[in-house]
Amino acid sequence: MKKTPPLQCPYCCSSDTSVFKHYPTIHNGVRKLYICRNCERLFSETHNTAMNNIKTPISKVASALRLRSEGLGLRATGRVLRSNKSTIALWENRFADQKATLLLYGFCREFISLTFEGDKLYTIVGKRTMPSESEGWTAVIMERASRFIVDQRCGKKDTALFKSVIKTVCGYIDHTDDLSFLSDGERRYGNMLFELCSEVLQTGKRGRPPRVLPKGVRVRVKNKGDQKHKKGRKRPKYQAPQREHLDTAQDLKEFEIHANHLEAQNAAIRRKNSTFRRKTNTYAKTVKGLQRTLDVHQIIHNYVRPHWTTREVPAVTLGILAKPLSLEGILSMQRAA
Ligand SMILES: [Zn+2]
Repeated sequence: MKKTPPLQCPYCCSSDTSVFKHYPTIHNGVRKLYICRNCERLFSETHNTAMNNIKTPISKVASALRLRSEGLGLRATGRVLRSNKSTIALWENRFADQKATLLLYGFCREFISLTFEGDKLYTIVGKRTMPSESEGWTAVIMERASRFIVDQRCGKKDTALFKSVIKTVCGYIDHTDDLSFLSDGERRYGNMLFELCSEVLQTGKRGRPPRVLPKGVRVRVKNKGDQKHKKGRKRPKYQAPQREHLDTAQDLKEFEIHANHLEAQNAAIRRKNSTFRRKTNTYAKTVKGLQRTLDVHQIIHNYVRPHWTTREVPAVTLGILAKPLSLEGILSMQRAA
């Protein structure tokens, strides 16, 4: 297993570390024990990675993730690999936990222009309830050109859900001069973006200065409903519900606005994620379980598997990575402190 040294010391965060000795393992070949020259403590190369204290070969853990990401259920994967379904859920949790570290990759570079699309999809969690009561809503945000999933989270379709994914979008605002957010109807995305990121515009005029979206940030929401038979003025197809900065360029053309890339994406999620695919009454057992599978899907979609339209891994298209990551590489990646 190749690694890019130096590893960071898990105790004092120093990067002044080196290999102390090699030791054999039953299933994973020779592993390295590291020493920190700063605090002189020893730590294993899997410390602070997804494989910490997992004795199973990393190739088997990766196989389980591969089967699951092709839409196989937890029990079926367990039968194929002769493992317990709770063990497979544990491996998935460890893999899903790498999401936060991988997210930081995106914030290590500057982007010329980003176009985000926001959508939502729905599955049933636990018992069947009214959609308004259900915790099976998933808010998804995707970067259009690269098909990079910025974030996807499930829960009740409420303000908190939209806020949680918009928080991730806000992280990108400081890293680009030009950011458009498009939504086919869900106004709460724009509202949350405004709530979290708007700033006071200094106009030099008297009175309370208005709040505006940061410079270079645009929000466009599709106007739903019939437009032809309305009395009076015809409504524009898209509108800008939030006040924008005076210096934000207003050159988004109508044909560029359509936020429909996610619809094809949602069809793919339904194919690949078993909780969206089953035809029984209970699709996902718990919200936690659904979020775990969404996180696993997001990581594989963004960093591992080439997208069927661009034929490239989204993180590579977006310019975050030079080349795709492997499942094994992600499993043995050190978590950010
Ligand atoms: Zn140390």
